[in-house]
Amino acid sequence: MTAPLTIGVLALQGAYEAHAAMLRQLGATAILVRKPEQLAGLDGLIIPGGESTTFLKHLERAGFFDALTTFVQSTPTFGTCAGTILLAKEVGNPPQRSLAAMDITVERNFYGRQNDSVILQEPTTLPGGPLEMVYIRAPRIAHADPQVEVLARRNGDPALVREGHLLAATFHPELGHDTRIHQLFLDMTAKAKAEKPE
Ligand code: GLN
Repeated sequence: MTAPLTIGVLALQGAYEAHAAMLRQLGATAILVRKPEQLAGLDGLIIPGGESTTFLKHLERAGFFDALTTFVQSTPTFGTCAGTILLAKEVGNPPQRSLAAMDITVERNFYGRQNDSVILQEPTTLPGGPLEMVYIRAPRIAHADPQVEVLARRNGDPALVREGHLLAATFHPELGHDTRIHQLFLDMTAKAKAEKPE
């Protein structure tokens, strides 16, 4: 039997507990990451939803921003909502700093009004039928480069995207019961681990 995957969940702020619970349900070891040193030894990382500006403030401390920028270049990482904003190469409304790892452009708070914070059922290319999408003051992915794979959309815009070892959702898959997206991330992480030179 192979050892369980060790997945970090960035726990500076925001919706990290529900991610950790879903990872444990799927048999992974979940570690709440609060310091840059904890990135060492992780097979993958989830950057949860929350407030991206607050994440950035916390990340300015103790070289965390630079450590995370390097980490996401080569280690499987899954961003949800604010996490997607952090992973994007370009951020608008207003522009802000990011880890600039994924070739997507996001507009913050595009679905920022109360009416736009909704639960939708939308088609996906993942097997198993439509996805439940929980939206909370969400960004819009306004542009994705051609190599970015779009797995689901909201109003025609990419909502769940994959680029190499990176996965990003503008919604909150950890707040529903559907574990398909977390399972996809674990599968991506297992594959990256198997291919990694020792
Ligand atoms: N509105 C938040 C931001 O701009 C994102 C909201 C979320 O993560 N649910 O950072």
